[in-house]
Amino acid sequence: MVVKRKKWSEDFAEWFRSTLIDATVMDYRYPIKGCGVWLPYGFKIRRNILQILRDLLDSTGHEETLFPLLIPESSLAKESTHVQGFEEECFWVTHGGLTPLKVKYALRPTSETAIAPMLKLWIRSHKDLPLKLYQVVNIFRYETKATRPLLRMREVATFKEAHTTHATREEVEAQVMEAVNIYKEFFDELGVPHLVSKRPKWDTFAGAEYSIAFDMVCPDGRSLQIGTVHNLGQTFSKAFDITYENMEGKQEYVWQACYGISGRGVAGVLISHGDDQGFVIPPSIAPIQVVIIPIIYKEIEEQINKTCEDVAKRLKVANIKVELDLRADLTPGAKFYYWERRGVPIRVEIGPRDVKQNEVTIVRRDTLEKQNCTIGEVTTVIRTLTEEIMEDLRGKAWRWMRDNVRRVDSLEETKQLLAEKTGVVEVLWCKSRDCGLKLEKETNARILGIPLDLEERMIDGKCISCGRKATHIVRVAIAY
Ligand code: ZN
Repeated sequence: MVVKRKKWSEDFAEWFRSTLIDATVMDYRYPIKGCGVWLPYGFKIRRNILQILRDLLDSTGHEETLFPLLIPESSLAKESTHVQGFEEECFWVTHGGLTPLKVKYALRPTSETAIAPMLKLWIRSHKDLPLKLYQVVNIFRYETKATRPLLRMREVATFKEAHTTHATREEVEAQVMEAVNIYKEFFDELGVPHLVSKRPKWDTFAGAEYSIAFDMVCPDGRSLQIGTVHNLGQTFSKAFDITYENMEGKQEYVWQACYGISGRGVAGVLISHGDDQGFVIPPSIAPIQVVIIPIIYKEIEEQINKTCEDVAKRLKVANIKVELDLRADLTPGAKFYYWERRGVPIRVEIGPRDVKQNEVTIVRRDTLEKQNCTIGEVTTVIRTLTEEIMEDLRGKAWRWMRDNVRRVDSLEETKQLLAEKTGVVEVLWCKSRDCGLKLEKETNARILGIPLDLEERMIDGKCISCGRKATHIVRVAIAY
């Protein structure tokens, strides 16, 4: 599986495509457009990333569940804005064998309408609330735009969606903020820099009162939505008649929130820390944290291999995930290349000089810096190094993103920056729909929304579009 490789910094889209397959993360050459295969190495990365989110959700009172893949059209159609948002994107099951179905089934594009009819059966009184469920499933969307591996798939194989139900508006508002904080923690742990914005009214999730989104900036200057949190209000509870008996014995509609991160959550990690050599997997989620490569010198081959095995054993005992590459048909150089593009964060080289001095040579994947240490120190040094690497990856990714978010005063400059795809542009806005849509049209870009942490702050200045008093800062970008 040799694919022509492109550089992270020069042709990001092609770099990502080719590195995914070259680093054995995902093979997207499946005979259905927009579907790909998670390869064993990629699957392990995916699993380790998922575990972080599962731990965060489990520790905040969410419970994992699993709803069916099929949603009857009658359920999907119950809420009108929701069905309008999704019906054209659905894959439909129309036949059972050769018999046309009386009610066709959608392959879930998202699960609100799979969950709602069941909530109606389960929720009786205020004692049943809050109910916080999540599932990790595949979803299907008939994408008509060009599909891209992991970024725009027809089968999103790793959709982590949470659905929560509450008694009051205040509780659902608080849940939305809890979800935002969970996602912040998730991306922070992975060192993925993010912008949190409240999407404009015309770009909210179908059926939601408002949507908050996490975006990152890709190396080509485009933004990538990597997570969303929606306040659904009572939209679905009214459509599906989901009520509970309150303390006074009265029936009330429940309040709901939902939030999700797709396969783009994994993509975000791979993109944030990639470079021209390939991926750099953060040590905390790397399936292989250290690879040991012998630098064979004929006369003492046996001694070198033995030292390698000894070091591997020491690391294993210390719970460090280590791989010993003893393949005889590859040169050390070919092995370096092989593990570099897979992003194994630390390489240990052991050659004749190391053996003689009872040392090893340690190379960081992210900086390619070398250092030596004695075999006795190897575990301690590598432990410290994994923490340093994680810190450095996080710092470097955040610095890069901050450099690519620019505050701009003039429409001309905004247009120019967006035409050159130089990242996210922040401008002043009066919050009117007309000005927003005009801005999107004139820049061919997407309004990502108002920075969540600045939502409440009053702004001094003029709207970039109409010149009247501005009320908010708004982010604009060419989006994936
Ligand atoms: Zn305006």
